[in-house]
Amino acid sequence: MNKAASTIPAVGIDLGTTYSVVACLDEQERPRSIVNGEGDLLTPSVVLFEGDQVIVGREAVKAMAVDADQVADCPKRFLGRRMYPRPLHGQEWPPEALEAWVLDKLRRDASRTVGNFRHAVITVPAYFDEVRRKATQDAGYMAGLDVLDIINEPTAAAVAFGMAEGFLDERGEAKRPINILVYDLGGGTFDVTVMRLEGGHFQTLSTDGDFQLGGKDWDQRLVDFVAAEFMKRYQVDPRDDLSAAARIWRECEEAKRTLSLRGKATIAADYQGNWIRLEITRAEFESMTRDLLERTTFTCREAISAAGLSWDDVDRVLLVGGSTRMPQVKEMLAELSGRAPDDSISPDEAVAHGAAIRAGAILAAHAGRPPRLKIRNVNSHSLGVVGKDPKTLRSRTGILIPRNTPLPASATRTFRTQKADQRSILLQIVEGENPDPIYNSQVGRCTVPNLPKGLPAGQPILVSFEYEENGRLSVHVRVEGTDVELAHELNRENSLAQADLDRYRKQISGLPPQVIALATPI
Ligand code: AMP
Repeated sequence: MNKAASTIPAVGIDLGTTYSVVACLDEQERPRSIVNGEGDLLTPSVVLFEGDQVIVGREAVKAMAVDADQVADCPKRFLGRRMYPRPLHGQEWPPEALEAWVLDKLRRDASRTVGNFRHAVITVPAYFDEVRRKATQDAGYMAGLDVLDIINEPTAAAVAFGMAEGFLDERGEAKRPINILVYDLGGGTFDVTVMRLEGGHFQTLSTDGDFQLGGKDWDQRLVDFVAAEFMKRYQVDPRDDLSAAARIWRECEEAKRTLSLRGKATIAADYQGNWIRLEITRAEFESMTRDLLERTTFTCREAISAAGLSWDDVDRVLLVGGSTRMPQVKEMLAELSGRAPDDSISPDEAVAHGAAIRAGAILAAHAGRPPRLKIRNVNSHSLGVVGKDPKTLRSRTGILIPRNTPLPASATRTFRTQKADQRSILLQIVEGENPDPIYNSQVGRCTVPNLPKGLPAGQPILVSFEYEENGRLSVHVRVEGTDVELAHELNRENSLAQADLDRYRKQISGLPPQVIALATPI
């Protein structure tokens, strides 16, 4: 066995929208969450810029009440955009660099428990597109990590529950084939994934989600309720002031947690010297948030039908994400699925635990031991290129790999040149289901130059995609009847150049650029 690999700790990181969790495998290969520098298992994914200092976690959350404009709250929500919406400390930040500050804190804190480590598996929501996966990987790099793999949060949760609840044996294999639904409602994102576990194979059958829906939206309903009372009584809106709004939000979030345990809670708030104290019952809270819950119900139904299953085929429903502690979630799922959901692992920790198990499997493979888990994913969004409808001349999405196709997948589709003597082709790669490409997200573009002179209109162009399990896409273009061929290095829009990554890596983790050696998925 490779000695070096065997001493590397198996670390998994759940880089959550609101909170992040780190876990590692202990000597018996059981996952354990690791406390951070403050002694907590959950680190708020919030970044404060204070003078020259960057502070992540609990202290940054506190600062939101007094210094909100210097705080990056939930940068994960903005992954895929070029920049975080506001400058911080006079500097514009790409969201992945803010995520890197979070990861850097997690790495430093966890090092105190497991020793200095570099390698980690990081999780992402299953429906994260190619751009957001790459941004997460880049965040890991900038934080000084060697990212072993990016895996889907529901897959990680299924692995952790499976090990803990005994529907997987100690080799990580399902004792009998089972179908599970993972319902993950975190602070800022929601997703639902239907998986089939057969032996050591974890196959995602379908995945769906809403990356703008989470516990924060439930909080916001309470904030709006408090603000409405303020306006009624004092004709002022505390939401106009960032810091006052942040203070009220903290009160409301606290009240929401109380309502998961008790039938009523009180919310006290002040603004411009005015005070209010409100009482709210669980029934009132549930009624003011019913539409949010129904959005998740709808997504669950869609995911079940996309998987080609009925509720009778679902053996287990797993709860992931802190917001599944709300009784309304469990009740809705019990009614929908006809079975009580599994909640034996803390919904905050399951994902990090599964990531640590995955890290252990990868490191074992590197050390020459047989792989334990085989994870088969599907793509969560269709991938295609922008083409022109020859009849209407309107731009249309030409899908090559439809969503929910098992990965790795490859596909070829024929397009045609539009006019005679066309000398180049612009290939725009998009991700999404909409026939109109405007509504899909741009993954990248490439140009095929130097077509030979004199080609007729309608010359066939064969476009091939190869989409790997880790979400990497390679594109191949061949113009029929010519020797023009292009194997494309995807030029992702909104993605940082290597020089920028290295610069941020130095600034954030203090580490020099690195060539990554170990990041080969098994
Ligand atoms: P996660 O991103 O999975 O860590 O989930 C964090 C979200 O879970 C936040 O919106 C929290 O407010 C919410 N949360 C945590 N505990 C509870 C609870 N007991 N009741 C309701 N929501 C909770």
